[in-house]
Amino acid sequence: MNETNVNLTVLIVEDELAIAEGLVDLCELKGYQVKHAADGITGLSEALSGKYGLVLLDLMLPGMDGFTVCDKIREKDKDLPIIILSAKNSDKDIIDGLKYGADDYIPKPFSVPMLVARIDAVLRRSRQATEGDGKLAAGNLRINFREYVGTRGTEELVFTRKEIEILEYLWNNRDHAVPRAELLNKVWGYENAEAVDTRTVDIHITKLRKKIENDPSHPRLLVTFRGEGYQLRATPE
Ligand code: CA
Repeated sequence: MNETNVNLTVLIVEDELAIAEGLVDLCELKGYQVKHAADGITGLSEALSGKYGLVLLDLMLPGMDGFTVCDKIREKDKDLPIIILSAKNSDKDIIDGLKYGADDYIPKPFSVPMLVARIDAVLRRSRQATEGDGKLAAGNLRINFREYVGTRGTEELVFTRKEIEILEYLWNNRDHAVPRAELLNKVWGYENAEAVDTRTVDIHITKLRKKIENDPSHPRLLVTFRGEGYQLRATPE
């Protein structure tokens, strides 16, 4: 038997067999190892086994719903990439999915090329080379990119891997406003960033502001420049 490469192994948590089989075929065709779990409880225990480089997670599942699975994975594993695939695709569902620590959210029905592009992006991307000292200091905000933790004044903050990747990229490029497409390309690894639902970026930014801004409705550190992108400032303005 070939040695399993964790980074190229996908866990599919999906109760609809027809969809699951389609996803399994697709992943195998792309050369990935695949395991299928048909309910939330099995999906969670598999996900925590350390055997996977990516979880594709449905939301409406028997046993345990996808939001809970996602939340429980994140309690134990901040790093494992999770993409939610769901027919529930209101803004609120997307926000909930990302709130529970998913990296991305793909609405069903999805286009196969787009899904493949996203799977490839997650599995083949190696983390950006680290620049600087791995730390951020801006206003009363302190973040340690290596430990995924920080403080805002006296409040302690904990970040997901994706949040840290976004903050680190913006911090390393803080001399300019970073366009959404650049974030999708550099942080999510999507080559064809124009084809990706931009709400993923916006929702992550909103979530980050709730953590790092003193007043998230009036951001002074993580600022939007309309038509240009996002800038993380060393000095609040
Ligand atoms: Ca389902």
